[in-house]
Amino acid sequence: LFEEVRKKSQELEEAFQEKSDFLNTMAHEIRTPLNVVMATYELAVDGFYGELDEKQTKGIEPIWRNANNLLNLTNNILDLVRLEPKRVPLHIEEFPFKEMIDDLKSSFTPLTEGKGLDLKFNLDDTALRLKSDKSKVKGILQNLLANAVKYTDRGEVEVRVCGLRDGKPEGERIFITVRDTGIGMKEADMSHLFEVFYMVEGVDRRKYPGSGLGLCIVKRLVDLLEGDIHVESEWGKGSTFTVILPSVHPTES
Ligand code: ADP
Repeated sequence: LFEEVRKKSQELEEAFQEKSDFLNTMAHEIRTPLNVVMATYELAVDGFYGELDEKQTKGIEPIWRNANNLLNLTNNILDLVRLEPKRVPLHIEEFPFKEMIDDLKSSFTPLTEGKGLDLKFNLDDTALRLKSDKSKVKGILQNLLANAVKYTDRGEVEVRVCGLRDGKPEGERIFITVRDTGIGMKEADMSHLFEVFYMVEGVDRRKYPGSGLGLCIVKRLVDLLEGDIHVESEWGKGSTFTVILPSVHPTES
């Protein structure tokens, strides 16, 4: 019996690995032609193949929108596959949090300006340092900010960061809230948000395209960093996601 269980578990592991390899290869193979489609579209609207009139430009716009949606989906699948194994490698290093905030500010400002939104960053201690996996912390914030900006048409998006000390290094936590004044969510949706492919019903997907993978990736990243995530939201009013992370990743304390 023991031998049989061991064999089955090995078979399962191999099947799991094959599935991951397949998804990985497929996502890579899809990305290349998609980038070509998008680059060709851009050349066309820039007049490289001859001037396009307004009707033609409008008529081919779905090429870019759909290719972009597919590219985002493919990138999200790749991210998820990388986070699937039982033991994902962590690269723990100490870094100033302000650096990350400045990076996010410069990459999200053009998006919020384009939508006429106010983007605010509030860091209670500019000297705040974290000992964690920098790229994973950044992945969490990028996903939450991208959602906040996507699902908000007017008002503001705010990122607030504060450190909580209780005297012991292992008790130190940092609280990161990403708040928006966007479309919000209903109570019934909130318990499913972190499930793979979960998308809130009744949301105009032409206006707010999505794949239902972003928050699943966020949850996996938060778990890897031994943190916690909560959400509060009101339909039509906005949402607030709060991520709580240990200032020093437990493997390092
Ligand atoms: P995606 O946005 O790609 O669909 P996510 O997993 O990031 O996938 O989010 C799941 C669903 O949760 C979204 O489809 C959306 O309906 C809802 N959602 C996520 N973030 C917000 C937000 N800030 N405001 C309103 N709805 C949100």
